[in-house]
Amino acid sequence: MGGAKMIKCLVWDLDNTLWRGTLLEDGEVHLADEVRLTVIGLDQRGILQSIASRNDPNHAWSTLDRLGLTEYFILPRIGWGRKSDAIGEIIGELGFAEHSIAFIDDQPFERAEVAYFLPGVRCYAADQIPSLLELPEFSPPVVTADSRQRRMMYRARFRRDAEQASHQGPDEEFLKSLDMVMTIARARDQDLDRVEELTLRTSQMNATGIHYSAQTLRSFIADPDHEVLVVALSDKFGPHGAVGVILLERRPAALRIRLLATSCRTIAYGVGAALLRWIIEEARRAGVHVNADFRTTARNRMMEVAYRFAGLKVEECNCLSPAAPIEEVTHLHLVPTVQPPTSTLRIVAVDLAVSEA
Ligand SMILES: [Zn+2]
Repeated sequence: MGGAKMIKCLVWDLDNTLWRGTLLEDGEVHLADEVRLTVIGLDQRGILQSIASRNDPNHAWSTLDRLGLTEYFILPRIGWGRKSDAIGEIIGELGFAEHSIAFIDDQPFERAEVAYFLPGVRCYAADQIPSLLELPEFSPPVVTADSRQRRMMYRARFRRDAEQASHQGPDEEFLKSLDMVMTIARARDQDLDRVEELTLRTSQMNATGIHYSAQTLRSFIADPDHEVLVVALSDKFGPHGAVGVILLERRPAALRIRLLATSCRTIAYGVGAALLRWIIEEARRAGVHVNADFRTTARNRMMEVAYRFAGLKVEECNCLSPAAPIEEVTHLHLVPTVQPPTSTLRIVAVDLAVSEA
C-alpha cells in the first residue's frame, strides 16, 4: 500500500461507463449495482467524483437524478467539448495536482486523448470498475470524519468562494453574512488522525512548528493536566471540517498553550485570533495567567503576529517557573483581561472548568 499516490478525484464518463447504454440513442439506460456500490464506496473514502461526458447536459443530469446519483458528483462537465479540456477545468477548480486525478471511460480514444494532453492523469477502462475499490490508489490508509464529508466540504467551498467573489463592501460584512460557528471540543480517540494530519499541514499557522503524532496526542488526552482540543468551523454554506488543534497544559498558576495550529485556508476567517481570545478568556475565568510556547520557523510569521496582537510577550513572572526548557522555544506571557467578543463568528466551546467524567 505504501508508495501508491492516492487518487483524490475520479472523473467518470457516463455512456457505457457509469451506466449501460447510450442516452441519446437508447433513451433508456441502466445502472449496475456494482457501479452504484463503487460510487458510494469511493465517496465514503473521501474520494471526490466528477463527470466528463459528451451528452445533453439537462438530459444527462435528469437521468443521474432519476438514478439517485446527483449528490455524489461535483463540478460535472457535460457537453460537446474535448474531455481533456473538461478535466483540465475540473483540476483547475479543485487546485489538485494532475497525478491525483483519475479518469474512467469505455472508449480507448477518449482515454488516449486525455492521456496525451494531461499525461499525469491516470486513465482506467470501464471494465475495471468492479476492481476499483481494491486498487491501492483508491484505498486511503486512514478514513477520517472529514473524509466522509469531503464532498460536502468542497460543495460548500465552491458556493462560499462564488459569493465572496461577487461580494461588494467591507470584508467584515461578508464574514458576518456567513453565520460562522466555531466549535471547540475535547478531541476523542477517533479525532486523532485528522488532528495529527492538521499539525502536519498547518506549518504557516503552527506556533512552534512541532508536529505531534496521534500517539503522543493520545497520551495527552489521557493526562488530566493536558487538554487536546479540536476546532471545527461551519457556516451557512456547510462544513469546513476540522480547522484547528490546541494543546493546553494546566499549570498551577497558568494555562499554557503548547500548541496552536490552524489551517491556512481559514486565516482570512479570523480563526486564529478568535481562538487566542477564547483561551485568554478561559484563563481569566480560571484566575490564572496565560503562557504560550513560541518558536520562530521559516513559515509561521503570521502566528507570531497573532500572538503579539493578543498581547502575549516575553516578560518575567513567577507563573513561568519551573517550565522544562525546550530548544529554541520562547515562553510568552500574558495576564488575562476581559476579551472583546468576536463579532464575525459564534463560538460553541467545551467548558474547561468542567473535566470529563
Ligand atoms: Zn504569570
